[in-house]
Amino acid sequence: MITIKSKREIELLKIAGNIVYQTHQYLKPFIKEGIKTKELDILAEKFIRSKGATPSFKGYEGFPSTLCISINSEVVHGFPSDRVLKNGDIVSIDIGACYKGYHGDSAWTYKVGQVSPEVESLLRHTEQALYVGLKQVKPGNRIGDISHAIEEYAKKHNLGVVKELCGHGVGTDVHEDPEVPNYGIKNTGPRIKEGMVLAIEPMLTLGSPKIYIHDNNWTVDTLDGHPSAHFEHTIVVTADGYEILTGE
Ligand code: MG
Ligand code: MG
Repeated sequence: MITIKSKREIELLKIAGNIVYQTHQYLKPFIKEGIKTKELDILAEKFIRSKGATPSFKGYEGFPSTLCISINSEVVHGFPSDRVLKNGDIVSIDIGACYKGYHGDSAWTYKVGQVSPEVESLLRHTEQALYVGLKQVKPGNRIGDISHAIEEYAKKHNLGVVKELCGHGVGTDVHEDPEVPNYGIKNTGPRIKEGMVLAIEPMLTLGSPKIYIHDNNWTVDTLDGHPSAHFEHTIVVTADGYEILTGE
């Protein structure tokens, strides 16, 4: 069921989204060669709790940590660990925070030191694909319009679209209806309405979009080992477009 959020709910979702945004900003200076991904997870959990919120993902269907930290070919749901970031890595950090029962959800892929021009363009175009999708968010459009725009943009730049994972509604659950796939057909799917809160999140790859899942039953990785990137914002649909809840 797709829910329309009340004014009060949107206020709480804004606070949750802002905590997620602030957590990204707080972590940025620590995302450097030599840090263990587990250390980032500890910093994020402390920060989120200091804001009166709780990590949305920790314990979610058994997920073990605050952050999903996915390196290079890992698409999503990487486990923080003793693994150390090194120069040339890209690292996707997905953050969820829950404030008074309402969630915010945002992922960003960061560079560690210098990356190849190819990887640089993967990052630039995956971020741009998010905004191309967001452009379709307005009352009267349909979810398929977002999906189609992201897929077309990815195709134009020769990037693979991971199809097994998608965006979603956000509210008292971090994952609500509707699903927002990153591929699809214009003018199909649920109608977008003012007061819907959605997470839009293209996951694009440099090679084939085929994936496999690690033995931990969570971490999604590209089958061919090529890098992948992930950019996500939670937004609220307004009378004439959208407002980003997990941004500045
Ligand atoms: Mg999400
Ligand atoms: Mg997320």
